[in-house]
Amino acid sequence: MNPILERVVSLAQRQPPDSPLQAIFDLDSTLFDVSPRITKIIHLFASLERIKTSYPKESAKLLKLEAHESDYGVKKTLMRIGFLPPDLEFIHDLVDFWKKAFFSNQFLEYDRPYAGAAGFVNALHKAGATIYYLTGRDVPRMLEGTVKSLRDNGFPLSDGNQGLVLKPSSDISDHEFKAQFFKTFNSKSTETWFFENEPKNIHLVEKVSPQIKIIFVETVHSGKDPEPEKHIPRISGFK
Ligand SMILES: [Mg+2]
Repeated sequence: MNPILERVVSLAQRQPPDSPLQAIFDLDSTLFDVSPRITKIIHLFASLERIKTSYPKESAKLLKLEAHESDYGVKKTLMRIGFLPPDLEFIHDLVDFWKKAFFSNQFLEYDRPYAGAAGFVNALHKAGATIYYLTGRDVPRMLEGTVKSLRDNGFPLSDGNQGLVLKPSSDISDHEFKAQFFKTFNSKSTETWFFENEPKNIHLVEKVSPQIKIIFVETVHSGKDPEPEKHIPRISGFK
């Protein structure tokens, strides 16, 4: 196991029972590789009758596409394969379809946990840590599928889904939601660790809660913000 991860497990084992280590995990692109979800949605769009009829060449090309672990979102995936649609309406249609599908319960079953992710979260749980999942997914569209996906993939989750924190609605941005969570988070522990892939979220959480220990999970991110500086430890995975 990565020495940083080993250290967190060992810290969890040494914490007193009345002050357990708290480990907070983002989901998308932190614990889960979402590229199979992206692939499935693009294939479904490409196989719609109206798309096959109006755009036969584009449809055939999209049906061969496999999103990579290193692809972020739908636009970057399409750009990587040099997909240049013949008209803008087609791409708008695809992106709209993708957004509705990606942020829904329906396709979460295609997400694949990164190697070692479930093992690491379970090791922490067994070591006495309290586990939280803090995600930009929202309750109305994605709670049900998120619970099923965590359970099906062997992540620890209590019967009442304690510690699972989703946005109450899609109106709030991910980074504001996460910053708000930490502002009001009543930490019972001296050891609170946050695992996250998105630099923007990391920067804001670091600002509002400097006592939180943050690990940058170096998978993929939006590229909207510069990556965290060297004082934030980073891991490339959970193996
Ligand atoms: Mg994420």
